[in-house]
Amino acid sequence: MTTLLYLHPSSLEHDTGPGHPESSARMRALMAMLEREERKGALVGVERREPPRATREQLERVHTGRYVDAVLGAEPVSGYVRLDPDTVMSPGSGEAGLRAAGAAVAAVDALIGGEADNAFCALRPPGHHAEAERAMGFCLFNQVAIGACQALEVHGVERVSIFDFDVHHGNGTQHTFEREPRVQYLSTHQWPLYPGTGAREEKGVGNIVNRPLPAGTGSGEWRRVVEADILSAIDAFAPALIMVSAGFDAHRADPLAMLELVEGDYAWVTARLLELAAQHAGGRVVSVLEGGYDLSALANSALAHLNVLREV
Ligand SMILES: [Zn+2]
Repeated sequence: MTTLLYLHPSSLEHDTGPGHPESSARMRALMAMLEREERKGALVGVERREPPRATREQLERVHTGRYVDAVLGAEPVSGYVRLDPDTVMSPGSGEAGLRAAGAAVAAVDALIGGEADNAFCALRPPGHHAEAERAMGFCLFNQVAIGACQALEVHGVERVSIFDFDVHHGNGTQHTFEREPRVQYLSTHQWPLYPGTGAREEKGVGNIVNRPLPAGTGSGEWRRVVEADILSAIDAFAPALIMVSAGFDAHRADPLAMLELVEGDYAWVTARLLELAAQHAGGRVVSVLEGGYDLSALANSALAHLNVLREV
């Protein structure tokens, strides 16, 4: 049993400037955690891979050609360029975005090709706020959506479920698929909160499940909602691939939001998703890192997630 762990040094080069929460310190915290675990011999079953860059064709299944040109063309030679109030590019940001998207694609290819059981793409920047033609919320390219499109268009996968447990709603992912019945998008998120989408009434063509949660929601209520409304909907949809927008900013220590999850909740939901994947999807789960801004909560939560993935 193998878990693929996608990492790339370009995630360290994408520099969002002083004081920005989505900083390369996030990736250094993840790398330090992985090195510590590897020294202990604790990452049995994990195979590290470097992703290729996403191709233009792969990007343009989600984004317009004009947008891809605009993002890659905006990368500065030095200093910073701001694409929106929160979304910054530095030298190296284009490469980081292409590798992050390429990881989701490569993970989908590898799992459908039977090379491994599941995969965790631990790259930055995150992606779920990126729209077809707009960078926002720290995101350049929507890697989870690009990965799902690879499954649909290249591999002929008939149904993909994407569970987004980042504390923010994945507006870009929802908008990509809200008229695409082959993809089910499900999200738990704090409400009200950035980006303002994700009302319960937003249902797409019956393929969107939003569960906004008030600030202060903790483990018990979150698990109840996930069990009753998210996991049951995935079970009914019977996906051939499960993808995860794995943001760890619903953790109680996170500085950007006010849900109260802990590491054990991420381990629990990972185990439940693997059970559903075993029933419907040949075990295939592709998880893509999104947010998570308290450095130790991010590292510990990602480790809890990875440890369940590798212990299938
Ligand atoms: Zn987030």
